[in-house]
Amino acid sequence: MGETKGKSRKGSGGNIILILTGLLMLTVAVLAVYIALNIGATVSEYSAGASELRAVKKELREARKERDAELAEKRDLEIDDEELEALRSETFAAAAQLESDIKAGRNDNRICYLTIDDGPYYHGKKLLDILDAYDVKATFFLTTANGNKLPDRGELSAASMYPEYLRYGHTIGNHTYSHDYSEGGIYSSAKAFMDDVEKQEEFTAEATGGFRPKIVRFPGGRATAGGNLGDIEEALSAAGYGWTDWTVDSGDSWGKDKSSPELIMSRVKKAAKDQKIMVVLCHEWSRDTEKALPGMIEYLEGKGYIFLPLFYDSQMVSK
Ligand SMILES: [Zn+2]
Repeated sequence: MGETKGKSRKGSGGNIILILTGLLMLTVAVLAVYIALNIGATVSEYSAGASELRAVKKELREARKERDAELAEKRDLEIDDEELEALRSETFAAAAQLESDIKAGRNDNRICYLTIDDGPYYHGKKLLDILDAYDVKATFFLTTANGNKLPDRGELSAASMYPEYLRYGHTIGNHTYSHDYSEGGIYSSAKAFMDDVEKQEEFTAEATGGFRPKIVRFPGGRATAGGNLGDIEEALSAAGYGWTDWTVDSGDSWGKDKSSPELIMSRVKKAAKDQKIMVVLCHEWSRDTEKALPGMIEYLEGKGYIFLPLFYDSQMVSK
């Protein structure tokens, strides 16, 4: 028995090795097939992915072409002045009502007045396209500090950009002609300031075929006006102008370490916590603003904000 047992043990030992070897070979074979299949799957997945990618890219190219054609059409659009004026005043009357309702707690919506300073820049076209894609209307405070030249495309006239803002439904504000707040500049007296404002108004009227902005933004903000602020505000008021600073500084002009799309977003998000009506300050040349803009719009709209261009009768405009 013992021997048989031993034999059988020996035999079963050999069998086990055989079985193990077989299993191992089988495992290797299965693994090989598995790997081969998997690589095959990956390769075919990859080629499917690549052709999908090509299709998506093609779609994107076509969409872009269509969009360019649409935009070109919009640029060529002739707008009847009277019709536009009627639409504007209707919109602004409704907006004024909305402001009162929000302040009185009768309406849960919120308002964002997006203001974009220091243009025109060629870069502004990118902002116009983004705003157009979201159907958002803003306020562009323009200056002629760089003469009748786009600072980033000197061969193009600044004046040629002016009608663009209006065609897209935005408002143009007055950011003074010279934007010069150094000593002896616009803040040296109320007269110096008003002369500069009027010069900018004439430039705007000529460039747009008659649009006269009635809202002024002080270069650097009202605080920069120093001791003459009171006189300047009085003169503005007497001449029928309104003016506005901002309630949220995006910080896009604060320099490299303090400006980024993420920082802009965090400042806007913070303001959205307690400002039912906000005036956001951005700059037309800022690439950070360009990058932050889609996210900013989506975030604020998600929080119930309606984007409107500023208007003279707005509560956010002092008179
Ligand atoms: Zn400015």
